[in-house]
Amino acid sequence: ETAEKSDRKLDYYQPEQDRYNARRLTLMSELKQAISNNQLSLYFQPKINLSTNTVTGLEALIRWHHQRFGFVRPDEFIPIAEQTGIIKPLTRWVVKEALRVQHELLSEGYDIDISINISAKNLREEDFVSFISEALTNNKKPKITIELTETSMMEDPLKALQVLEDLSQTGVRLSIDDFGTGYSSLAYIKKLPANEIKIDKSLIFDLTSNKGDQVIIKTTIEMCHQLGFTLVAEGVESQRVVDILKDLNCDIIQGYYISPPLPINKLKQWLADIDGYAALA
Ligand code: C2E
Ligand code: MG
Ligand code: MG
Ligand code: MG
Repeated sequence: ETAEKSDRKLDYYQPEQDRYNARRLTLMSELKQAISNNQLSLYFQPKINLSTNTVTGLEALIRWHHQRFGFVRPDEFIPIAEQTGIIKPLTRWVVKEALRVQHELLSEGYDIDISINISAKNLREEDFVSFISEALTNNKKPKITIELTETSMMEDPLKALQVLEDLSQTGVRLSIDDFGTGYSSLAYIKKLPANEIKIDKSLIFDLTSNKGDQVIIKTTIEMCHQLGFTLVAEGVESQRVVDILKDLNCDIIQGYYISPPLPINKLKQWLADIDGYAALA
């Protein structure tokens, strides 16, 4: 990281860059307190099983309500959390909060799997697997899926494989996120103890017009099914994309067309509105 930074020379004045750096420094210094100050919250986005039209799970997506900046997206602060080491307490907060919400939903009659995103940095924590395993035993009927991006695993593929094997022993499901954006080999993917592959939204967005993407998705789905993975498509924004994905035998879809990520109260309303589980017409 330092080598990369020192290579970068600023040879003219860039006010935009200064503002960006100032914001970044502010976020960096305030992220740690954000956890204890209750500025972080989880939103939940439904995942729909295409053969039953029912909700099969929820993905927990973190939000930071910053006092001055308003809504800060995870794409902006997760990298900061990773660089500063805050990713460790942050992920632990996410896991506990997701389990708390799952318990709350269960008490209201909704027995739903929750997906949690973790960072590759978490895999380097000595006690990560034992933390997960303890968090699960403290919960009644945990149904947890852990999502990890394909690209992040490539930083240290052997370590990732080893930790994922230990993690799968704890009873969590494992999901490979943003699939199709990295360069992992089929030989590597097939070794992973993963249950699920999530095709990246960039490949899903223009599925209606892009024949090339359709071919890639079709091949990916066939290949992954043969390897025993469940296929999830993220970034589904229209009925036409739903139809194409049904034709291609995709198992699960997620996207704004079904629902954006929702805070817990709105999610409960959404679940009540679809009357149990018939999420798609
Ligand atoms: P992701 O795990 O791939 O999550 C999917 C992202 O796509 C989410 O962005 C979601 O809001 C967005 N999305 C869902 N459906 C649609 C759609 O139909 N169209 C479009 N354009 N976007 C859609 P979000 O919530 O901003 O999260 C961005 C990324 O930040 C996530 O990508 C994940 O990698 C990371 N992230 C989120 N929450 C956490 C967390 O608790 N821990 C960690 N380590 N990373 C997180
Ligand atoms: Mg994800
Ligand atoms: Mg993704
Ligand atoms: Mg992503």
